[in-house]
Amino acid sequence: MTTAIDTDARPTIESPDGAALIELIGVTKTYGEGTAAFQALAGVDIRIEDGEFVAIMGPSGSGKSTVMNILGCLDTPTTGAYCFRGIHVEELSRNQRALLRRHCLGFVFQGYNLLARTTALENVELPLLYRGVPLRERRAAARDALALVGLTGWETHTPAELSGGQQQRVAIARALVTNPAIIIADEPTGALDTRSSLEVMEILQRLNRERELTTLLVTHEHDIGRHARRLITLRDGRVQHDLPVEQPLDAAKGLEELPAEDPNDEILDNFQGGAARPHAQ
Ligand code: ADP
Repeated sequence: MTTAIDTDARPTIESPDGAALIELIGVTKTYGEGTAAFQALAGVDIRIEDGEFVAIMGPSGSGKSTVMNILGCLDTPTTGAYCFRGIHVEELSRNQRALLRRHCLGFVFQGYNLLARTTALENVELPLLYRGVPLRERRAAARDALALVGLTGWETHTPAELSGGQQQRVAIARALVTNPAIIIADEPTGALDTRSSLEVMEILQRLNRERELTTLLVTHEHDIGRHARRLITLRDGRVQHDLPVEQPLDAAKGLEELPAEDPNDEILDNFQGGAARPHAQ
């Protein structure tokens, strides 16, 4: 099968009329075989349009990771279809799926997944380096992406010199730098304190509002899920609820309402490696 994603040149994938950005149709997933077989997904239908901000929630074992692995092109459904702008992903070769993943999807993980001993700027540049983008161009794009997440002045810091919240912002910048069709954020605030969690949510909400960046968030924290504009709840491998959030929480407002930071925090940050202040440029 020949598609727009057969080469590593930047593919231009547009939705044919009526096709959603993402559509799962009757997706099932069975792990193992015979008597050991376990059905993790029992017929999931999810449609996500451009510009949406969707959260997927559900108890442990409900199938969230399985759905994410399928959407992220790391796994394929046992039955059913996964369409990305009308392209049947389950019919693509492994290589084509890797290209789709690299070109169209931006990932943010709970554990940041940054390269140690590598500066924030170089971490953000990396996806563009893999694509063969010339140095000057990728450096400029990485600086712009870091500015979008409020990290101008922090370009030369390594992950060890950044707080957890700052590392996650670098990871968001790295996901943004390729201009993906969708950001898939898997428990992005799972390892963060309240303030850092709200800072991450403020960035995701702002990018969604101002740049219409489609965002799919997986979380087990209800207060985090309520920042999305639509909430999908999974249970036992099925969609239990799929509803608009009537009044999404506003992370910017949440940050304003937090009590002022303890001045001792800054002393502690400096002691721990200077994460409180950017290096002079
Ligand atoms: P969640 O992310 O919501 O915790 P998962 O998608 O990880 O749920 O898992 C859904 C169900 O599928 C769980 O019962 C889990 O034990 C099972 N499962 C997940 N991956 C595998 C696997 N590779 N082999 C067998 N069972 C699996």
